[in-house]
This record gives sequence, structure tokens and C-alpha cells, in this order.
Amino acid sequence: MANKTCRNLLSQLSDYIDGELEEMLCAEIEQHMAGCPDCQAVVNTLEKTVRLYRTVGRAEVPQDVQRRLYKVLRLDQIGRHT
Ligand SMILES: [Zn+2]
Repeated sequence: MANKTCRNLLSQLSDYIDGELEEMLCAEIEQHMAGCPDCQAVVNTLEKTVRLYRTVGRAEVPQDVQRRLYKVLRLDQIGRHT
């Protein structure tokens, strides 16, 4: 399900959600998401999770939570760049 564009995009997702990504890359991600429901789903889920963690006073989503999300969405091969 995840093609190469999706993988590139999702490997930068935490930076994107943290707002640490360059404006150009953000635009690229948003453009891709507009036509890719898979990535939309991942970003929505991840964003919700990140917000939840911030609400309880933790700045970062633990790696295992991210991995679980990827796995649920069958994108678990993406998170291995660390
Ligand atoms: Zn995609």
C-alpha cells in the first residue's frame, strides 16, 4: 500500500507535525496528502496522538507508539530509519 512517495513523506512526518520541517517540504507533504487517503489517515492519527501527549505534558510521542501506529496502518517498515 505504501509507495515510495508515501515512505519518503512518512519518514519526515514527526518533523512535519512538530512544525520543524521546511516550508517547502510541508507544502510537498500537503500536496501529496491531498491525493493520498493513506497518508491523510496516518497524519491525522499521528497528529491526534501527538496532541494527546502534549496535553498530558509530554513533548514527544514515544518511538513505540509511533511504531504501533505505523504497524496498524501497515507502514511499519517506514520507521526504521533511526
Ligand atoms: Zn501517500
